[in-house]
Amino acid sequence: MKKSVITIAVATTVGLGTIFGGVTVKTEAESISGLKGEQTKIQDQRSNIKADINSANDKINTLQRQQADVKSEKKRLDFAIDDTTDKINDKTEKVKSTKAEVAKLQAETKVIKERIQKRNVLLKERARSYQENGGMVSYLDVLMGSTSFNDFIDRANAVATIVQADQEILEQHEADKKELLEKQTRVETNLASLQKMLVDLKNMNQQLSAQKKEKEKLLASLKDQEEEAHEGMLDMQEREQILAAQEAAIKRSIQNERERQAREAAQAKSNQSKSGSSGTSSTSSGSSASSSAPKVSSGSFTRPAPGVITSTFGARGGSFHYGFDIAKPGDNVPIVAAADGEVYVSHYSSSYGNVVYILHNINGQTYTTVYAHMRRSLVGAGATVKKGQQIGVMGNTGDSRGQHLHFELYKGRWQYHAAINPSGIVPL
Ligand SMILES: [Zn+2]
Repeated sequence: MKKSVITIAVATTVGLGTIFGGVTVKTEAESISGLKGEQTKIQDQRSNIKADINSANDKINTLQRQQADVKSEKKRLDFAIDDTTDKINDKTEKVKSTKAEVAKLQAETKVIKERIQKRNVLLKERARSYQENGGMVSYLDVLMGSTSFNDFIDRANAVATIVQADQEILEQHEADKKELLEKQTRVETNLASLQKMLVDLKNMNQQLSAQKKEKEKLLASLKDQEEEAHEGMLDMQEREQILAAQEAAIKRSIQNERERQAREAAQAKSNQSKSGSSGTSSTSSGSSASSSAPKVSSGSFTRPAPGVITSTFGARGGSFHYGFDIAKPGDNVPIVAAADGEVYVSHYSSSYGNVVYILHNINGQTYTTVYAHMRRSLVGAGATVKKGQQIGVMGNTGDSRGQHLHFELYKGRWQYHAAINPSGIVPL
């Protein structure tokens, strides 16, 4: 976009010579076709910038879609994290109860082991007493001491029962012990698998959280990219606005030129003796400049505002300052046109705030001056202004820190980032 602008600036210089009361060198047909050519070039630029705006819009839409996708993935991860957290809590509870069960079984086994030990001691003691007393002999004594056969049977059964009972109790104890130990083994195996599950779940949760963090990072970067694209688009929209205003100014110039030519033709026809005189119709200043307006210089340019220079043209902290800053406190600090000219933009911009663009023709050279951050503008597009005429009030609108005038100068028409150093041209 930037390259094509340069040719326009040259065309402007030639084309506008007639409108601003300069010497008419070109023929009338040439002056209008020059303006028309200029208009076509601006239209081309506008369609280029519109295409750029469209592609920026597409990019923003894509970034927004990507953000929506990432957000839904993040939501899915949130659900998964909630789910594993629930499971972790559940398994932790189960591990706790299983551990209690293991402890209970261990206690029960201990009890039964003690019982077995006691029974063993008892049986050993009994066996020892059998041996000491002749073992089975004493049983025999018991049996021999029977008074009758029936008594013998009873006594024999009693002895057998006692021996069997001892054995059965011991066997039962052993069986209980075995069962308890088996149960304990089962529960311990269960505990081990629960603990492994818990570890797995915790690992999974960690992984999910890491993924979520990654998504959050991605989302933040997408947001940054969208903001950047948005800022770029605002910048382009602003340029488009200025180009539209330039086109409108050229249309007005064509109209003025046609009217002037018609007037000249009519005058030449109706009055042969008189020669054409009135060219441009410039409204006289009607200057409302307050007492604090700067003294109007005698040259082509004058200082655009009273106050101190707070920033000059050039590199400024990593960026480039395309103008001069003049600051003065007060509610009604006047800003004046730096030279005679035509206002072709007077609007509000997010960066420049209330801003006025004036086109000048100084000895055949076209210049553009820009007055930014004004509290308010007093002129509209199409207005003709005189050097030193108040065009606005100093302010702090747009991207501005503190009340000041940001003043820019261009050779030719406004071009993106093509402002020149006004020092030496405009008395500052
Ligand atoms: Zn500035």
